[in-house]
Amino acid sequence: MLLFTPGPTPVPESVRQAMAAPTIHHRTPEFEAIFAEVRAQLFDLMQTDEVVMLASTGTGAMEAAVTNLCHDTLLNINAGKFGERFGKIARAHGLDNVEIKHEWDTPATVEEVLHTLRAHPAIDALAIQISESAGGLRHPVEAIAAAVKAERPDVMIIADGITAVGVEPIDVTHIDALIAGSQKALMLPPGLAILGLSHAAVEAIGEGKGYYFNLATEIKKQRQNTTAYTAATTLVIGLRRILEMIRDQGGLERLYDVTARRARATRGALEAIGLHSYPQTPAPSMTTIDDADAEAIRRLLKEAYAINVAGGQDHLKGKIFRINQMGLIAPHESVWVVNAIERALDKLGRRPFDDTAGRVFNDLFFERTDRQ
Ligand SMILES: *Cc1c(COP(=O)(O)O)cnc(C)c1O
Repeated sequence: MLLFTPGPTPVPESVRQAMAAPTIHHRTPEFEAIFAEVRAQLFDLMQTDEVVMLASTGTGAMEAAVTNLCHDTLLNINAGKFGERFGKIARAHGLDNVEIKHEWDTPATVEEVLHTLRAHPAIDALAIQISESAGGLRHPVEAIAAAVKAERPDVMIIADGITAVGVEPIDVTHIDALIAGSQKALMLPPGLAILGLSHAAVEAIGEGKGYYFNLATEIKKQRQNTTAYTAATTLVIGLRRILEMIRDQGGLERLYDVTARRARATRGALEAIGLHSYPQTPAPSMTTIDDADAEAIRRLLKEAYAINVAGGQDHLKGKIFRINQMGLIAPHESVWVVNAIERALDKLGRRPFDDTAGRVFNDLFFERTDRQ
């Protein structure tokens, strides 16, 4: 079965092998050297002033960012399940919460965020997804962050980049906390979260909040290449291998370029066979199609063509399907996915198969390489 869900993503064979070595103790010079190496590379990936690794899923890092950086009122953008989660985290910790709510295909705007900020002066942090995975939506986070900082430099900007870090270049100039997770773009098993922080965020954290997710404690330890509690040693070793593979395949710039081209080619191929891309501003992390036959297409992909793509959640259950674009994906796999979708449409009596999807994918994906 070809795993093409936008998280979890498949773990490459060489990463699984790297993680199969006998467990090493985390309080040893041997592991601290690995930790130091990975930490140095994470500064490249995150582009932030400080970086911490947390033994948790992505949601743990979301919670850590909120509890350590928001002390009064959190403004969150709810245009999907993950944006909604930020509000739930704030309320679970007794913080006040103001929410901007949108349909899952609709990005937040600079104007509405500034308007909300002016109406609620107690807001001291903004939490937003860079790529909202519920609908494959890209929010204009960089523009929103810049506008917020111009007016209220004290407001902490928390950006969930779980399906954006390692997928596309992110301008972190005005972002205070950038969140990444292991099982999406980083092609690892779940259980490791990464939090990039600005100097301003480190200052705002002060003594930190909470116990396990007290970021002051973690920052202090991780600057010494160790962790406050037991490190997720196996996942850190896997991460070292993934980052090495990304370097071997031309580095981050090339990964971003290939991912953008693959996402464009997939969307173009599916539109060429009459399908509709759901989000108004698609993120490169996934291709989201809304269709009355979404469930039937998904079932055919699984049963007839051994491809696993994701469906929708909540009110979009049965109405959309989502195709992963994150990670090191071989182009022939993506061609097979769009080809299989075209075959599924034929089986459903919608459109006779004539290889349009595969041809359009190849034209769009290889166009630039051909000319070079
Ligand atoms: C998957 C995901 C999360 C949640 O991460 P977990 O690892 O499941 O806790 C948060 N935000 C976005 C955008 C995601 O895609």
